[in-house]
Amino acid sequence: MNSILRYWGYLAALGLVLAWTTHNRNWVLILVLSVVVVIYSFFRAPAWCGAPIRKKDAYCRNNAYGLLMGCHLRQHRWEKLKMTVAPKRWRELVGRCLTSTQQKLAVLAGIAGSISTMLALIKVLAKA
Ligand SMILES: [Zn+2]
Repeated sequence: MNSILRYWGYLAALGLVLAWTTHNRNWVLILVLSVVVVIYSFFRAPAWCGAPIRKKDAYCRNNAYGLLMGCHLRQHRWEKLKMTVAPKRWRELVGRCLTSTQQKLAVLAGIAGSISTMLALIKVLAKA
């Protein structure tokens, strides 16, 4: 049960798809769900750590939560954070993010959620 609970963000993603496809779109609901999905994929989705380790071209395969977070090792969380803020290392970071199906799913949810957030935000602001 616990392992299913870790994937709650994908339920939010499913809700988001439904919210987009219904006739009377509720943009506030879409906005809220989008933000939840983005936060989930970046900070909560089960993924690999992916921080560089000393061996050349190798990276950490410990379990981590969220694409931007490292595993339980503080050093790795720090490494991931450094990769996030250095544009030169984004390619590396994205490459690491696409190493497993589970992570590809999280990346997809993160991207779709980001686009959805922007669109919903525009709609909500336009109506306000
Ligand atoms: Zn690690």
